[in-house]
Amino acid sequence: MLNIGIDIDDTLTKTSELANEILHQNEEYKGILDYHNLDKKTLDFFIRKNIEKIQNDVELNESAKEVIDYLKDNGCKIIFITARGSLGLENLIPITKKYLSNKEIYYDKIIFKQESKVDACIKNNIDIFIDDKEKVLDEIKKANIKTLRFCSSKTISKHEKVSNWLEVKDYIDKILKEK
Ligand SMILES: [Mg+2]
Repeated sequence: MLNIGIDIDDTLTKTSELANEILHQNEEYKGILDYHNLDKKTLDFFIRKNIEKIQNDVELNESAKEVIDYLKDNGCKIIFITARGSLGLENLIPITKKYLSNKEIYYDKIIFKQESKVDACIKNNIDIFIDDKEKVLDEIKKANIKTLRFCSSKTISKHEKVSNWLEVKDYIDKILKEK
């Protein structure tokens, strides 16, 4: 059995896509293409103002639900490990639980408030961790855990890359077959 650790924002869900849509609708942010490019103070303000809407309305990445169901059906444990809920944004914990339930996303466990995820990965015997952030994965790889970077195929990464959930399925299928 494999324990699969999964990040939420920009791995399970299309968070940046919706955040940028909201950004582009706002005159005050004119000319800024990506919300990650806002200065820290403006970014904090933008997040606090819009995060509830973003996390309620965000779309799942294509095939994420189907692949998670498939992994569960093949004996994998699904453990979400997310930074959500930290920095005084505890209100996002119930929002996230309700969202996952509405979208019928299966999971065995969810761990909030993890900016760094390596400790939670070790504690929960994670075999493979999927995340969109290189830095997050770097730490996890050092702990000898398999890492999968969710990113566009053009992105340069030290980690195994996947650009959609069907590639996640293919990667994990290979490991399941080796067992
Ligand atoms: Mg993420």
